[in-house]
Amino acid sequence: MSNQQKTLTPRLVKKLWLVFVFLILLMGVSYIVITGYFANKYYQETTQRLNAELANHVIEEKFQSASPFLEDGSVNKALFGDLMHDMMAVNRGIEVYLLNKTGQILYSVVLDHGDNAPEQSVSLAPITSFIQNDGKDFVLGDDPRNPGEQKIFSAAQFNIDGREGYIYIVLEGVEFQLVSSNLLGQYFAKLGIRAVILTTFFTALVGLLSIWFLTKNLRLITGTIRRFQEGDLEARVENPEKSDIEVFAKSFNDMADTIVGNLDKMKSVDLLRRELIANVSHDLRTPLAVLKGYIETLQMKRDSLTENEKQEYLKITHGNVNKLSKLIDQLFEYSKLEAEQVTPIKEPFSITELSHDLIAKFKVLADQKKIDLHLENPKENSMVFADVSLVERALQNLIENALKYTPANGKVTLSIQRKDKNVEINITDTGNGIPINEQPFIFDRYKQVVNKDTKKQGYGLGLAIVKKIMDLHDTTITVLSKPREGSSFIFNLPAYQI
Ligand code: ADP
Repeated sequence: MSNQQKTLTPRLVKKLWLVFVFLILLMGVSYIVITGYFANKYYQETTQRLNAELANHVIEEKFQSASPFLEDGSVNKALFGDLMHDMMAVNRGIEVYLLNKTGQILYSVVLDHGDNAPEQSVSLAPITSFIQNDGKDFVLGDDPRNPGEQKIFSAAQFNIDGREGYIYIVLEGVEFQLVSSNLLGQYFAKLGIRAVILTTFFTALVGLLSIWFLTKNLRLITGTIRRFQEGDLEARVENPEKSDIEVFAKSFNDMADTIVGNLDKMKSVDLLRRELIANVSHDLRTPLAVLKGYIETLQMKRDSLTENEKQEYLKITHGNVNKLSKLIDQLFEYSKLEAEQVTPIKEPFSITELSHDLIAKFKVLADQKKIDLHLENPKENSMVFADVSLVERALQNLIENALKYTPANGKVTLSIQRKDKNVEINITDTGNGIPINEQPFIFDRYKQVVNKDTKKQGYGLGLAIVKKIMDLHDTTITVLSKPREGSSFIFNLPAYQI
């Protein structure tokens, strides 16, 4: 259980948490900024719409009874002073300006209009656009007290006694700005604290949930790996395609299959090795014991043995030495083939010629055993594409077996026939045959048919070597046999097209 909690390392958990905190903070800040921006826009637009007619009212109500200008053409400061103070007393956020027709500021109570004061003006473009659209469009204009800043405003044009100009009212004046920025700071401070609390809470929740979800599949796989590690070789992740980490799950399953496959292979190799040692020691022991016995007799009874007896003993010794060296040769050959150390060198050659040579080689032995060994259709020359020395070895083993298991006056026939793209080679004898139930196993190593009629005549390696040679040529060998009637061994080799 304690092991299972370690599916994710504390370092990884920490990193995940940090990522979550960062993401949620980022989301929070973006949310606040976006909301703030749109809330401000919304406020500005509503305020401008609401106060669109404000400048018009000033002109309609105040300029009916009194002119904004005195007779000498200067601004009626008394009128404006009262007017502006009245208005700004009602709404402290606004600032009222009197402009001439070019946008130059003629008078305002919030600006210094002394002799040394610089002349100020505002851009007319937003004002004319506002008036043309009857104040229905959202337009920002210059703020004379904060040059460079854009504010919402209300504006209206007048023409009194031939004097043209504008009443321009900034709706978010300095007073408004002061109050608003103060409030905004407090608002953000409150929001910030709340955001931090909420962020921590959500991070904890999201982090826990994510880690739980993430590790759900990991926990399953880790558990399976642990079971496998503890020796349960059957442990596999069930339905890996349904896992969120499908590749990982599948890789583990594949890896487990490979390990189990390799273990099986190693086990079978080990079994073969033990079997080999047991067989070899047994097979070596018999001829060695015989050799030892005869050599000791020859040594001890050197003087009392007749010349004939000595010759007989030496003949037996020689026969056993031959047997031993043949077994060692076969073992060597087989182990080389099994260790895949042999690479066939394929080339075109005449299988007919090879068969003639082999028949000539075994003629003496066949004659000794009174067996008719011959090649059917000897005239027809067939070419194959294969490794000549390996094929020779296979044929040799098959002919040897045929001669070994065929009693006197029997027949061993080699036939070579072109079949489509292949050449079929058939070695048929009229020997003891092989029981049907034994036939599938005779190509296994050390497999010898136990038969009362025939004494053990080999080491069970000959057909195993033939089988390996067939594998190297990507072909198979089949046996057709009936006990007491004979056997046929048939295989194909690719024909060589001239
Ligand atoms: P061995 O060295 O014993 O001949 P092989 O691998 O060559 O080993 O053959 C395996 C077994 O197959 C033999 O022991 C024998 O019983 C059987 N066998 C092989 N060839 C023939 C054959 N031509 N006729 C009858 N039995 C055969």
